[in-house]
Amino acid sequence: MKPIQMVDLVGQYQKIKPEVDAAMQRVIDTAAFINGPEVKSFEQELGTYLGAKHVIGCANGTDALQIAMMALGLKPGDEVITCSFTFVATVEVVALLGITPVFADVLPGTFNIDPADIRRKITPRTKAIVPVHLFGQTADMDAIMAIANEHKLFVIEDNCQAIGGDHTAADGTKRKSGTIGHIGTTSFFPSKNLGCYGDGGALFTNDEAIAKKLRRVCNHGSDVRYYHEVIGVNSRLDSLQAAVLRIKLRNLDAYAAARNAAATHYDTAFAGLEHITTPERSAHSDHVFHQYTLRVTGGHRDGLKQHLEANGVPAMIYYPVPCHLQNAFRTERFPEGSLPVTEQLTHEVLSLPMSTELDNEQLAHITATVKSYFNQ
Ligand SMILES: *Cc1c(COP(=O)(O)O)cnc(C)c1O
Repeated sequence: MKPIQMVDLVGQYQKIKPEVDAAMQRVIDTAAFINGPEVKSFEQELGTYLGAKHVIGCANGTDALQIAMMALGLKPGDEVITCSFTFVATVEVVALLGITPVFADVLPGTFNIDPADIRRKITPRTKAIVPVHLFGQTADMDAIMAIANEHKLFVIEDNCQAIGGDHTAADGTKRKSGTIGHIGTTSFFPSKNLGCYGDGGALFTNDEAIAKKLRRVCNHGSDVRYYHEVIGVNSRLDSLQAAVLRIKLRNLDAYAAARNAAATHYDTAFAGLEHITTPERSAHSDHVFHQYTLRVTGGHRDGLKQHLEANGVPAMIYYPVPCHLQNAFRTERFPEGSLPVTEQLTHEVLSLPMSTELDNEQLAHITATVKSYFNQ
């Protein structure tokens, strides 16, 4: 059996190596490293794939979130409602801009933000909602957009983990995750579903005026070189990464299918196993399985993790400490106990290996090892 990794990026590269190597060589041969034709082509191709009018590359997914908030003019004193059960970047950029992060709890089945709790957390200072489409499926965007319209709030979708999946509205309309709110953001960190070979990120929007502001913020606040309209940042997707991403984008649907096949294998093996809850499939979203995350109850999570690791199966806890209990972000407004579902999940979640390259032998070993912990 091939050794099992959380993500097998080398195995994935081997299958596209000739194309990727040629594309990278093409960039090097032309020295069009910054804002070259590869970046423009990738932005257009991703826009077509997503059904988004504007795609703007940037340096990473964290920058994408920050640029979105800067372009919307969010400022100190404003409040942004987001979840605490997320990767820190979502909350970090809010705090970095002097905006106040306000946390809504998540739903125990999908791990995504609870619209009912968003409503409870709205104040006169609330300016935006940032749902995080965690682990590969979208938050309840129908409910979130209804709340946003009612209260005139912006919606920035943190789509770093769910790119490629469809969201299905109540009327049956399908739209790609990240294209429903005012702005969608994503990360091309290597292990993401659409990952490059270094850092990268992008923003998407269907609003022309917002697109213009996003491009300006990314580019030192400038539309015309050496003339600066607003304070911006320097955040670019580089051409080598764009060249890789053009190839990987063509495989994205096949990658999602491979991830779903592994997830189905896991679901079947764990059906009915006591102390294990397999990930809920949302009724309004595809699942692209950025992570396959179990809930392990009865206090067995850490023991199971050790047992897996002792038997050659890596497993990870995403996330062990929620943002509101991190030393960097603790406030009196969100003490321990204030987000009960989020806090409970941090004690129960366990993510199993998930990649485009898992074979049946590896999957069988992983599921047998989980079962053997429970003497099954
Ligand atoms: C990965 C990730 C980010 C940050 O992306 P980087 O490219 O690493 O900056 C932000 N939010 C979520 C939910 C992520 O998973």
